Amino acid sequence: MRAEIISVGTELLLGEIVDTNAAFLGRRLAELGVDVYYRQTVGDNQVRLVAAFELALSRADLVLVSGGLGPTMDDITREALAEVLGDRLCLDEGALRQLEAHFTRLGRPMTDNNRRQAYRPSNADFITNRRGTAPGILAHHQGRTIICMPGVPRELETMFEGEVIPRLLRNSNGEKNRVIKSRTLLLTGLGESAAENAIADIIKEQTNPTIAPYAGLGEVRLRLTATAAGAEEALALIHPLEARLRERLGDVIYGVDGDTLEGVVAEKLTNRGLILAVAESCTGGLVSHRLTNIPGSSVFFRQGMIVYSNEAKKELLDVPDEVLEEFGAVSSQVAEAMARGVRLAGDADLGLAITGIAGPGGATPTKPVGLVYLALAYDGDCLVEKHTFSGQREEVKYRASQAALNLLRLHL
Ligand code: ATP
Ligand code: MG
Repeated sequence: MRAEIISVGTELLLGEIVDTNAAFLGRRLAELGVDVYYRQTVGDNQVRLVAAFELALSRADLVLVSGGLGPTMDDITREALAEVLGDRLCLDEGALRQLEAHFTRLGRPMTDNNRRQAYRPSNADFITNRRGTAPGILAHHQGRTIICMPGVPRELETMFEGEVIPRLLRNSNGEKNRVIKSRTLLLTGLGESAAENAIADIIKEQTNPTIAPYAGLGEVRLRLTATAAGAEEALALIHPLEARLRERLGDVIYGVDGDTLEGVVAEKLTNRGLILAVAESCTGGLVSHRLTNIPGSSVFFRQGMIVYSNEAKKELLDVPDEVLEEFGAVSSQVAEAMARGVRLAGDADLGLAITGIAGPGGATPTKPVGLVYLALAYDGDCLVEKHTFSGQREEVKYRASQAALNLLRLHL
């Protein structure tokens, strides 16, 4: 199947908003194995939208449209669609009743222009919108399929996932639905290109499930997507692939699907009954914040200290003056002294410390912006790591918090 995406909206042409809907659709279609050869963006203008429809229908089997389905005068997708289909718009009584019920629930009067949303080409079908008022529209035309969805991203995404994909996966006899299952592996401690490189051969030979890597801040996500006759068959396709990836990537994988790094660390600390104390300089409390976002963190989290100045490092953590003088606050020696100091101060099993240069200022010839030392003191020893992170100040802070949590995770 070959698909084309049409994004409707003058705001898109003016660069006032970025076309995240087209990006979303492109990504999901790729995962579904549907080819997308062209994408069009057109303003809120019926003549030009009709032309865009005609061009798309001349070269694609499936046309996916985003936007212009709302109640206002500039929403012209349904009129343009009717014109292309050579159909007329008719009032859908069921949709009108749903709209009226929606406004009654809100206790608001329904204005006349809202009625427009209950009109569809007489030979087309409505698609339920679970997140908003404007229904989507599904039409068939000369062997092609056209699917129009609302422009509001969460409405479009919910409609695409819940209503459109199941229709697309229906086999050509229109009988049994095929199902699609995804599982996302979460990686940290390895950049996106390094991660992709490490598994390039596996990605290449893979068609079902597909593997789609996404770069996040301080982490990489690998989404495995399988289509099959049923959920169990789809999972049966995913499991061996996941095992292969785990074998290849090892402990770079910290979790799956909705897991968070702090959640994984919290669980390990809780299970092992260990007490943690954290000393943060450049992260300004971010590591403590992330860990205490986890319900039940009081079981393992004793204290977090933001020791930003040299004075605080000395007074609160007993970092020796000479060490600060000789090596500077951003050094492996100070990180280690902080970790040992906070472990002692907090009477904890583990002391975690972070010191670095978040930027934009503060760099020296030997110490660039993004330089961060992490240390983890535990019974008998102390691990120290050096990192150089890229990005703006907040990115450096987040990446540093991610690496610190990962150091803890790997130790546990
Ligand atoms: P509504 O019922 O809200 O009018 P609609 O289907 O008519 O929905 P639009 O009016 O085109 O959709 O867009 C509604 C809002 O959704 C826009 O103001 C914009 O914020 C967002 N939006 C529209 N198109 C896109 C897009 N392609 N990518 C990201 N956001 C979009
Ligand atoms: Mg609109």
